[in-house]
Amino acid sequence: MKKCDAETTVGEMKEAVLAFAKARDWEKYHRPKHLAMSIAIEAAEIMEHFQWLSEAQADEAMQRDEVKAEVAEELADVLMYCMELANVAGIDLAEAYFAKLAKNEKRFPADEDWKAKWER
Ligand SMILES: [Mg+2]
Repeated sequence: MKKCDAETTVGEMKEAVLAFAKARDWEKYHRPKHLAMSIAIEAAEIMEHFQWLSEAQADEAMQRDEVKAEVAEELADVLMYCMELANVAGIDLAEAYFAKLAKNEKRFPADEDWKAKWER
């Protein structure tokens, strides 16, 4: 069953990874410390794909289907651990996500001259 972003909820994703852990009796191992570390480890696995490449080479690599597929897998690993940490901690991810986005909108106003700041 192929899923897509437009037809999948965060709740479904959280339930799916919880069911995966429960079926293997892994819930007892999925403590916040382990999950937080696992998020960072999987994020590092994304970075491995670009470790020794220039910015332009990394952009080019992402155009290749095999690299894109590998990065997608690591991105999924990061997301799964994020979902698991949210499950364990009782965090509503959509609420946290949009609250943080609103906070960032205030912190980084859209009408600011970002080009001048980034390209000094
Ligand atoms: Mg991985």
